[in-house]
Amino acid sequence: MTDSAPPPWVRWFRKQFTQNIGIDLGTANTLVYVAGKGITIREPSVVAVDKDKGKVLTVGEEAKRMLGRTPANIIAIRPLRDGVIADFDQTLEMIRQFVKKAKSGVSLYTTVVVGIPSGVTEVERDAVLDACAKSGANKAYVIEEPMAAAIGAGLPIEEPIGSMIVDIGGGTTEVAVISLAGIVHSRSIRTAGDEIDDAIAAYIRRAYNLFIGERTAEQTKMAIGSAYPLEQEMTMSLKGRDLVSGLPRSIEVTSEEIREAISEPIMEIVEAVKLTLEATPPELAADCMNNGIVIAGGGALIRGLDLLLEEQTGMPVVIARDPLSCVAIGTGRMLDMINESPAIRRMLEKASRG
Ligand code: ADP
Ligand code: MG
Repeated sequence: MTDSAPPPWVRWFRKQFTQNIGIDLGTANTLVYVAGKGITIREPSVVAVDKDKGKVLTVGEEAKRMLGRTPANIIAIRPLRDGVIADFDQTLEMIRQFVKKAKSGVSLYTTVVVGIPSGVTEVERDAVLDACAKSGANKAYVIEEPMAAAIGAGLPIEEPIGSMIVDIGGGTTEVAVISLAGIVHSRSIRTAGDEIDDAIAAYIRRAYNLFIGERTAEQTKMAIGSAYPLEQEMTMSLKGRDLVSGLPRSIEVTSEEIREAISEPIMEIVEAVKLTLEATPPELAADCMNNGIVIAGGGALIRGLDLLLEEQTGMPVVIARDPLSCVAIGTGRMLDMINESPAIRRMLEKASRG
């Protein structure tokens, strides 16, 4: 572990032949950022596993497509669903396959930065680094996702100014206050997009005796889900299976009903933000007041969540530009800055291998 940069000629040489890859290992989506190209892979964090042989068959989009169309011995799994690595081997295989896909033939030296949920343990961290090394990375770093998200959202993380980032993903919501290139305070809860989908499905079952699948629940959330009254409320028709007759049936739901149905998980997210603010040193909290709370991740796209957070915290709230890509962009930007910024270098060296 060193603090100084390698000599200029080494840096020049490496730069000519280096491929820098940033990976956002999300609970719902994995994104790969390749320096010079931008985001080249954006696929669900899903693996298809042969249950009998215990072998991973394929990952990402292809694995998700296999769902429901394959013999019963093949199942699709989200190994990071709850923000912790539920199955080591599957997660590692997923990383290996994505890195392999992202690498192009000409590079001699590959550097990888992986953004991982902040709930991941030390052992899991090491395993991720190992997986990168085995996929041919010469140097690998892991970084906590809120930090990468903050960088990707363009927050001034190196300044002695408090910045707050709220990253609402599929399995986890991570709230962090960052200052001087460090996470001052953070909180991670297992309430995010998946829980909101579950709340919608539970409501439809209760109110209409109708069973809807995960995908339909998610589509409903994206189409008419909201956290705050809308200027123009909406309706949508949903198809499901009647719990009594067992036959397909369709219903109409309104955005008001869905808002009510998801209010519990939404309020848990709001509560996590409030608790983080309360635990933040007053000067830094005041900075957040000036600069606003930045929300990122797919959950930031829920209509009116920014307005609800503003109302509940009394702070300005900003939706990050391209919230689904913040972490991937952040990992890529870190790789670009590693030679220029001692703070970024130190941050990465803290957890590196290679
Ligand atoms: P992760 O980082 O955990 O992989 P993402 O940041 O990729 O998660 O966000 C995925 C979550 O965002 C999913 O729960 C998905 O349903 C939700 N999402 C994506 N787009 C929207 C949208 N337009 N409105 C509401 N939720 C959305
Ligand atoms: Mg994420």
